[in-house]
Amino acid sequence: MLINGNAFLKTADKYHYAQGAFNVNTEEQVDAAIQIHEALRAPLFLQGAQLGNAFIGGKADFKNGNLDDIKKGADLLADYVAKKAEVASIPIALHLDHGLTFDVAKACIDSGYTSVMIDGSAHEYEDNVELTKKVVDYAHKYGVTVEGELGTIAGVEDHVFAKNSSYTSPLQALDFINKTGVDSLAISYGTKHGANKGSDIKLRMQIVTAIKEILLSEGIDVNLVSHGSSTIPQYIVEEINNLGGNVNGTGGIPIEQLKVAIGCGINKINIDSDIRLATTRNFRELGKKNPEVVTDPSTAGIYKLLAENEADIDPRTFLAPVMNLVTENKADTPALKEINRAVNLGTQEIMGQLIVNFGMLGMAPKVMEFK
Ligand SMILES: [Zn+2]
Repeated sequence: MLINGNAFLKTADKYHYAQGAFNVNTEEQVDAAIQIHEALRAPLFLQGAQLGNAFIGGKADFKNGNLDDIKKGADLLADYVAKKAEVASIPIALHLDHGLTFDVAKACIDSGYTSVMIDGSAHEYEDNVELTKKVVDYAHKYGVTVEGELGTIAGVEDHVFAKNSSYTSPLQALDFINKTGVDSLAISYGTKHGANKGSDIKLRMQIVTAIKEILLSEGIDVNLVSHGSSTIPQYIVEEINNLGGNVNGTGGIPIEQLKVAIGCGINKINIDSDIRLATTRNFRELGKKNPEVVTDPSTAGIYKLLAENEADIDPRTFLAPVMNLVTENKADTPALKEINRAVNLGTQEIMGQLIVNFGMLGMAPKVMEFK
């Protein structure tokens, strides 16, 4: 069942857990996500990022993807997820992460996404309001839910770059919600995008509490979203470095901190970097345990890039030579099947632990009932 974001976030709010929202960049990751969410009876919130869509559409150089590349990937991902959702035993939402323009949000809505984020946080306040409202007006005509962003979340994630964070003002959040009609709001309370959050991350839970209380007292039913929330498991970073990687200065949000944030009123938590790390670790481990994949003509390109890019943790960098695997899930050699298995298990490893930690375990039937 493919549905919009409302049932997911309202159920999370009612039962005091957070919906994990996970970015995917290949079809195999969609399969892995469905497998682990079904096994744990958890509702599934899949995300395709603006440029992630360009990649999944076949643009290896995804950072320079244009609107056509994004549209192609959005169509492909939406079709694939819709087909899988028909037979899945759990509810699934497909959400655009960090759409930066109306055209990108519209392309994803037209493709069949059931939820979109429009991130106008880099604009002046009034321009952010105007852009977000325009997306809300279009999306709601098609029953698609919209997430906005107010305040600036620091760090770098694909094209989303902000040097410093500026915390969300609770009073401005109320005004923003009233003027735009968003269904959910990404707020800045100290989290940071990317794998290098530093060791001195200090979350200001008071901001979450203040916004939640204001909304409650005004009778406004809008859900709060935490971006830049990857936990950056240090066991994985150590393993990557022991397998020839050179990943330094990493830091994440401790899971205990995320649990406090959930208690304060965060209903959705976005995770991307953790999945990248686990997949990269699996690629390196596979190469060490099974040296044939390093020289096999179908996968040698992946291992050349792994050797050349010791500090990189983005599987998209390494998968660039095998775009058929990304766009069609075409694993037509034993070595490519091994690569897909590495992607699959890395994805499940992260999602599984966060499903449990975020409190999503067994909640799929509750989300289905909400409809
Ligand atoms: Zn984000």
